[in-house]
Amino acid sequence: MISLHNEDILEVEIKDFLIPSERVAHVQVSNNLEHALLVLTKTGYTAIPVLDPQYKLHGLLSTPAILDSILGLQRIEFEQLENKKVHEVMNSSIPRLKITDRLKKGLDLLIDHPFICVENEEGIFEGILTRRTLLKKFNQAIHQQKKQ
Ligand code: AMP
Repeated sequence: MISLHNEDILEVEIKDFLIPSERVAHVQVSNNLEHALLVLTKTGYTAIPVLDPQYKLHGLLSTPAILDSILGLQRIEFEQLENKKVHEVMNSSIPRLKITDRLKKGLDLLIDHPFICVENEEGIFEGILTRRTLLKKFNQAIHQQKKQ
């Protein structure tokens, strides 16, 4: 068993490992793609959550999806950016975690995704669990175990 502070790390609730919603860059469903590309470029992230004004989680938006949506036959049609909306381009079939889920479920999902969105029972966005945070915690737990 890998334990952190004497607790099986896989059984710890993910709420202790979240990057909380107020620190997560996001876009709104009704934003246009020009604004969304600006946010993605400025933050340096390739994908960020899409929320509505009530903070309900709707999906993820990535830079490749935006560029693909304005790809013409001969060129990238940047002038289309201001006419298209985030909800037309976002990926809404994304894996999700509940705030009460255990880390072992997060571990399964993070194999295929760099981060997973976390929501509460009402679908309100609570934050993200990243592969980086999880690896850091496992690393910490393994080193702690070695010392004992
Ligand atoms: P990291 O593990 O820190 O490299 O983050 C992996 C991915 O999670 C990034 O490429 C982003 O897509 C997303 N991410 C991490 N931190 C944030 C944040 N504060 N706001 C929005 N997205 C984030």
